[in-house]
Amino acid sequence: MRAMLFDGSSPVLHETQRPDPAPRAGELLIDVHACGVCRTDLHIVDGDLSEPKRPVIPGHEIVGVVAALGAGVTGFAPGDRVGVPWLGHTCGHCRFCLAGRENLCDAPAFTGYTRDGGYAERVVADAHYCFHLPRQYSDVQAAPLLCAGLIGYRTLVLAGDAARIGIYGFGAAAHIVAQVARHQGRTVYAFTRPGDDDAQRFARRLGAAWAGGSDQTPPEPLDAALLFAPVGALVPAALRAVTKGGIVVCGGIHMSDIPSFPYAWLWEERRLVSVANLTREDGATFMAIAARHTLEIETTAYPLSRANDALADLRAGRLTGAAVLTMR
Ligand SMILES: [Zn+2]
Ligand SMILES: [Zn+2]
Repeated sequence: MRAMLFDGSSPVLHETQRPDPAPRAGELLIDVHACGVCRTDLHIVDGDLSEPKRPVIPGHEIVGVVAALGAGVTGFAPGDRVGVPWLGHTCGHCRFCLAGRENLCDAPAFTGYTRDGGYAERVVADAHYCFHLPRQYSDVQAAPLLCAGLIGYRTLVLAGDAARIGIYGFGAAAHIVAQVARHQGRTVYAFTRPGDDDAQRFARRLGAAWAGGSDQTPPEPLDAALLFAPVGALVPAALRAVTKGGIVVCGGIHMSDIPSFPYAWLWEERRLVSVANLTREDGATFMAIAARHTLEIETTAYPLSRANDALADLRAGRLTGAAVLTMR
């Protein structure tokens, strides 16, 4: 199979030929049709995250078709369309797993990070962590649901019943989460890079009541702010934008350092939390939402061999919506 490989020596993926992986017990062999490009992939390639296996095939927003089953697999058959997310495996017996918080498992495996992912023509995945996907989305449209949508949704859930939601960084995750928040009857305020008129128009088109630069003050105080931009300086800005008792939720795996700020900006029971990974329950809940409300998924498709271009466009902020690699 063809694969794009990260060997850790430079921030570039190398196109290689590798033997097809063989499914072990409990695993699916999947013909990959599309794989989303997540900001986490960029953090891996840029060396911001220290734990990838090396070499590794990145990619954890995988959409494909089951080609073969390992021993003992139930719930999937050859020919089924399937999605593979970031959470690739959990131990099932640590105190986090036992408490229903498998996103914090002590011994997890992550797709495209500690096990090979979907920047390839084939992949194997633990069937217990794979999802059936809503039918109304094409393979390319479905790919961003698997992380941008899914972990974006977990970020929104942590905002509780907040009615006025600010979203900082209007990329792949934000454009999906904004639509879910609107379906839930919330009001969305979108913050983009200052002066990014295209991103602000995009946000308004998807239902944002207001869109402006991240240096601007929203017209009303927010009940919650979701941060998808990996910029620590936005944390104090978001805390200033939320009202008493409000919450700031950081949705990314990595962020530049947060500058110091006066305690008064956190005072009055404002909260600052992060989101880590996903649970399978998040996945089931979010896929049901995506099936019920057809979400508008904005994508730019690249052939697999152009994965480095997709990463470069994401790094430079040149994308509207999500980048997705296609294998055929
Ligand atoms: Zn991701
Ligand atoms: Zn565990």
